[in-house]
Amino acid sequence: MRYSIKSVKAREILDSRGNPTIEVDVATEGEIIVSAAVPSGASTGIYEAVELRDGGKRYGGKGVTNAVAAVVKTLQPKLLGMDVRQQANIDGLMIEIDGTENKSKLGGNAMLGVSLACARAAAASDGLRLYEYIDKDSSLLPVPFFNVVNGGKHAGNQLDFQEFMIAPTGAENFREALRMGTEVYQSLKGRLQKAYGKTSINVGDEGGFAPPVKTPEEALEALWGAIQDAGYVDEVKIGIDVASSTFYKDNSYTVAGVNYDTDELIELYRELVAAYPIISIEDPIQEEDYEGFAKATKLLPTQIVGDDLFVTNPKRLAKGIEMGACNALLWKVNQIGTLTEALEAANLAKKNKYGIMASHRSGDTEDPWVADLSVGIGCGQIKSGAPARGERTAKYNQLLRIEEWLGDKASYPKGLLG
Ligand code: PEP
Ligand code: MG
Repeated sequence: MRYSIKSVKAREILDSRGNPTIEVDVATEGEIIVSAAVPSGASTGIYEAVELRDGGKRYGGKGVTNAVAAVVKTLQPKLLGMDVRQQANIDGLMIEIDGTENKSKLGGNAMLGVSLACARAAAASDGLRLYEYIDKDSSLLPVPFFNVVNGGKHAGNQLDFQEFMIAPTGAENFREALRMGTEVYQSLKGRLQKAYGKTSINVGDEGGFAPPVKTPEEALEALWGAIQDAGYVDEVKIGIDVASSTFYKDNSYTVAGVNYDTDELIELYRELVAAYPIISIEDPIQEEDYEGFAKATKLLPTQIVGDDLFVTNPKRLAKGIEMGACNALLWKVNQIGTLTEALEAANLAKKNKYGIMASHRSGDTEDPWVADLSVGIGCGQIKSGAPARGERTAKYNQLLRIEEWLGDKASYPKGLLG
């Protein structure tokens, strides 16, 4: 049967940070051969699926030859002959073989490579693009949240908040959103250089600038100035990913040298939201504090996105929904390790009127599958770093193509979160 899996191969490749990651090839009896590459985070949530890494000296312990072996030696013999369209069965079988809660035996990285390559093979077998295969009626392009100032674990500066993003919610379509975001990115470059000198336009892991600023206010001031310079005060809004677990210790959050408790931190967000056009705040509270998240969601007028809190895990999301923690899910497929479970989390979010922001990882590859998936699930939001650096533009450029392929059918969520 042409949908049957004929072989599953894997190799070690490099991600954008110069660390090894895994790429998986799936071939079918119908002579379809496709591959999928797996990204990797830096500010990872403690409840994420485990990335299997080799340890030892090679690549500083970060090699993935054991994950490659898990695919080729352990999984391949069980997967041969299976129908690539049976995504839930394939993913279910891998989960069963792994047998752990956090995918630590086979590795979430090994499993995700197989999971996504099978989805691609199924799509290609029927002559479909990946986004159409996920949902043949999909037509909604996402608002891109461009991360243009990098801090936290993604940059060598002293900014504690991790990501400062610009979101062209006032654009008519994705193509225009990309242009607006890029124009603001370029005007920000000029503004930073003028204010802080040449070293301020060095970039961090996601292609955003890493200026020598310390406080969130300084970063937001630069962003807001750049939006004004580019002439988009009504069209371009701001989103932040605080990634607050990275500066939380001993019941206290330290921002620019000042300690905050949860209430004080929420008050800081309230001040920032009052001063700047912020429409989305991700991980404002540390990853174990559902109650703090619920409080922030109640007190802040913006979208509150759970990343490290939910780790794209349906069970953790269900608890959040019950407690009123967040009103949106950050959707990172590699956090949970299979496409089936990631789709389950997306469906649960949708059913409960939570927003969904599809996301790349800070260590990513040229593979643009998250762009296709964001359209496939019709979530209306994506973050894939700055509109610069190949592994970031790979996703935005793919969205340009998808919009073109969809033609008149394509839609853009203008006014989102307005
Ligand atoms: C994030 O925290 O949202 C992010 C993309 O960073 P990382 O991939 O390092 O977790
Ligand atoms: Mg995050």
